[in-house]
Amino acid sequence: MIFFWAQTPDGWGIPGIHGPLAADELDGYVQSGVYLIRGNGANLLIDTGNWTLPEHDNGMGDFLVSLLDREKNPLKYIFITHFHYDHVGNAATLKRRYGAKVVCHPLDRPIIEDPLFVTRRENITRFGLTPEAMLEDFNLEPGESFGLAAPDIVNKYWNRPVEVDQTVNDGDILEVGGLKLEVIHLPGHCPGHVGLWNPATRTLYSADLMHYPTPLGPYPIGDAKAHARSIQRCLALEPELLLEGHGLSAYSQASSRRRLLHMQMQQRTTQERIVHCLRRVAGQPLRIDELVAEVMAIKTDLDYPVSTGIGERRCYAEACVQTHLLWLIEQGEAQRVKEHGKVGFVART
Ligand SMILES: [Zn+2]
Repeated sequence: MIFFWAQTPDGWGIPGIHGPLAADELDGYVQSGVYLIRGNGANLLIDTGNWTLPEHDNGMGDFLVSLLDREKNPLKYIFITHFHYDHVGNAATLKRRYGAKVVCHPLDRPIIEDPLFVTRRENITRFGLTPEAMLEDFNLEPGESFGLAAPDIVNKYWNRPVEVDQTVNDGDILEVGGLKLEVIHLPGHCPGHVGLWNPATRTLYSADLMHYPTPLGPYPIGDAKAHARSIQRCLALEPELLLEGHGLSAYSQASSRRRLLHMQMQQRTTQERIVHCLRRVAGQPLRIDELVAEVMAIKTDLDYPVSTGIGERRCYAEACVQTHLLWLIEQGEAQRVKEHGKVGFVART
């Protein structure tokens, strides 16, 4: 396995890969970007890559151990940006080996400590909704599950719990060997999604803010409106370096801004397409799975049926469209209707 790693002002990073080397998102070869920040006498690791299925080599885990074993500084913190398995996978192994403190946002903590939490009602009811209400918009058939919430899928692919030592909120500062890193809460991709900002080098570790499609869970797990605000916040910081959770990173203020504006444009386009489709059929309700075919016409690498557990449904794309629809309803542009037991959406005139 090949990792591309790059020197950054704060240490080094491995831009993670989604897609090109993987026929299937869950085959063990999808990695998140991992970044090591070197302070004066202490280090911090951002994310840990995914845990790899037993039939594959644990490429990222072994690679991180081989690099971290050679570090002079002790590893003080393992900063987990969010609960997704491709960011948490090696955290328990690395914590055990280096004795670092695992840090995350309180909203993602229960899932990081117990991935099976996503299969429980409490994961949704803690946001004031029931799973039935959350899933009603998708018109699932009896017995169909949605996303990565089926216990057998969680168990097989991403049940790698790690005990969290410290939770952090927006604005908190993590001190690492003289460096001061500010926690930035960037919800939208998931509730407890956090980045790190180093004002001294104007480097923003933005995790999966630029992941498309985002959101990839239904509301309240994903939230298009919150995501739009998160992009705005990052634009206002005017980062010189933007180091992302997957693939591309930007190495100048101009290119960082372009990346952020590109994501903002993709989200606006998604929303405009939804409005256009709803208006075109004037008053005739459209279901989310009907909207997805046109709104997100290009099938993304992340629409793999295996990761959803529900056959050919494009769950990530459907969740993205749903959270945009909820925002459109709030803005008075769309309305939810229920006819013959099916939920659909119409434009509001
Ligand atoms: Zn993610």
